[in-house]
Amino acid sequence: MKPRVIAVDGPAGAGKSTVSRRLARELGFQYVDTGAMYRVVGLVAHREGVSFEDSQALEKLCDSLDLRFEERDDGLHTLANGHDVSHEIRSAEAGDYASKVSVMPIVRERLVALQRSMGEARPTVMEGRDIGTAVFPDAPLKIFLGASVDERARRRCADLADRGDPADQDEVARQIAERDARDSQRAHSPLRPAQDALTVDTTDEPADAVVARILALAIEREIP
Ligand code: C5P
Repeated sequence: MKPRVIAVDGPAGAGKSTVSRRLARELGFQYVDTGAMYRVVGLVAHREGVSFEDSQALEKLCDSLDLRFEERDDGLHTLANGHDVSHEIRSAEAGDYASKVSVMPIVRERLVALQRSMGEARPTVMEGRDIGTAVFPDAPLKIFLGASVDERARRRCADLADRGDPADQDEVARQIAERDARDSQRAHSPLRPAQDALTVDTTDEPADAVVARILALAIEREIP
């Protein structure tokens, strides 16, 4: 049986979180943010002084890590070994650590196993970089979101400003371009659309319209 998973992939700032959360809410599906998982591993590795290139130490770290998501009244919380890291994982540094640990095959192997068990347990909207290509290649609906680098930098800056952490838009655009390059050029599960993914450019299309389009497709394919 095919998993009831809607895969939403794309680069940073393409609108994956906004679209995926709304889709999950509309459908009553679980929402899984796989980027948050790589961010947790990156953050914990940094804190524990584990090198991002030390495969054995990263394996130990992943195997002893208790990583959970909890839905509370004020939103989704990310817990690492019992500590709420929801806020810290959103920093630009955590994004950079995530992008570095995510090139390590052992980290991908461990997190992909966890993502599969989450998606197999309940109907799910799962966002990431490789959900349609590697985690759930047989997902019944795959979406690949994209937007111009400038628009993605503008959105990321607005998010950071909301968190009280304002940033220079040109610098953010440079970081995004660097992260895109690392994510799409890595040897394991590089960022690319699955052959059967619907590609949506969100530069000028509002999130509501994108969500409505995907919902219509989900209904057409009898996923809900
Ligand atoms: O989506 P987010 O910006 O939170 O992801 C942080 C980083 O985690 C990405 O830049 C990417 O390197 C990595 N990632 C990944 N595979 C995923 C999700 C995220 O490699 N499925």
